[in-house]
Amino acid sequence: PLVTRFAPSPSGYLHLGNARTALLSFLAARKAGGRFILRVEDTDEVRSSEEHMLALFADLKWLGLNWDEGPDIGGPHASYRQQERGAIYQRYLSQLDAAGLTYQCFCTPAELNISRKRQLAAGQPPRYAGTCRNLTTEERADRLVRGLPAALRFRVPEGQIVSFVDVVHGEQRFNSSDIGDFIIRRTDGSTAFFFSNAVDDALMGVTLVLRGDDHMTNTPRQILILQALSLRIPQYAHVALLLGMDGAPLSKRHGDTSLRDLRERGYLPGALRNHLVRLGHSCVSDGWLDDAGLIADFDLNRLGRAAAKFDDAQLRHWQKETVAHLSTDEFVQWIAAELPAGLDPQQQVQFVNVVRANIELPSDARVWAKVVFGKLDEFEPTALAAIREAGEGFFTEALKVIGHPGSEFKQAAKALGQAAGKKGPALFMPLRAALTGFTHGPELAPMLALLPFAEVQARLEHARR
Ligand code: GLU
Repeated sequence: PLVTRFAPSPSGYLHLGNARTALLSFLAARKAGGRFILRVEDTDEVRSSEEHMLALFADLKWLGLNWDEGPDIGGPHASYRQQERGAIYQRYLSQLDAAGLTYQCFCTPAELNISRKRQLAAGQPPRYAGTCRNLTTEERADRLVRGLPAALRFRVPEGQIVSFVDVVHGEQRFNSSDIGDFIIRRTDGSTAFFFSNAVDDALMGVTLVLRGDDHMTNTPRQILILQALSLRIPQYAHVALLLGMDGAPLSKRHGDTSLRDLRERGYLPGALRNHLVRLGHSCVSDGWLDDAGLIADFDLNRLGRAAAKFDDAQLRHWQKETVAHLSTDEFVQWIAAELPAGLDPQQQVQFVNVVRANIELPSDARVWAKVVFGKLDEFEPTALAAIREAGEGFFTEALKVIGHPGSEFKQAAKALGQAAGKKGPALFMPLRAALTGFTHGPELAPMLALLPFAEVQARLEHARR
């Protein structure tokens, strides 16, 4: 069976790019009837926090991704927090040691930096120069005695071709001679990403690693480690990194880049799911997909190489679609915080029915709730212009027929049109402007039906002066 995982580092709020790989990994597992694992990669204790881990859980759940194994629910391969897996890593490090595949490295960051710059200046790809590779026993002992911090490096074999078939990019070949011995345990004793990530995937039975393109060059390193440990090598699918509309990697400069930001602005999980699933994956359907529809439509063969651009316009499109799929009850709940206190359920339902097509975010509901249940104290400039143009006489006539007990708006407006010699926009625009403060918005008649007559009259009166 297909087993996928999402393996975030809890060093910040869930980035949209990671939310996308989480969603695709989740859908791949669900589509195949397999398992989806959540593993928290918190070996970097300085940058990881409990708070961010809990936020990750909450955001993933909000997005509708439920996992079958994970830190909060356990599972057959617990623990799912790398911080708690130190003893396991130690066992596999010892295995590499025993096979003569590791060595201690005493190079300081400054030394590594100089070597790196020298290589770059010579037009060579930077790789570890091998300074500590062949230290004699005495040289090593001397450095240890001096108390120099030691990292542990993996001894990469020379001249070996590492190849694998990427689900997205096809066959990949790397020459091990280009890789350079890399660190698998840091000087502080924690294991490095290359190592713990690969070992865990194997031990947890992950069969497909779906992750961002930026990890492509890490894969041959991880394959070498797995081979050295005789552990099973998963399949890999590297999806294009998420870009902003300008083609640069999606970053703060583009505005909101965490799921949390968009969630707090009122975007719905369905909107994010529908946009994210189409980034680096093409759907058969171009319509809105619910949870089951997303799973049914997903296909690993349709992961693509094309740049995936996060597009606000697309997100808003899917938000509108998602909002349109809310039931009235769901809608009322969604905007409840924006409604004045004390409305009865019937008023809430009527309000939603009248304004729902005009609401993309809960903050839009606040605007229309004020129009319907509050006082008008703000007018759009275009509304003021429409009121001025209609003139005092128009509103004097309007006051005679509109907003009286027993009067029905459409008929009243018709009578007004005849009296004032106006029809179409010349008739309705000034009315809308005077009664709502806007020159656009929900259908006027049903909206006015929610207003007390006295309020309608007061607004017309105000417009007349
Ligand atoms: N913790 C790694 C990251 O967040 C996981 C990468 C992977 O999916 O293998 O980039």
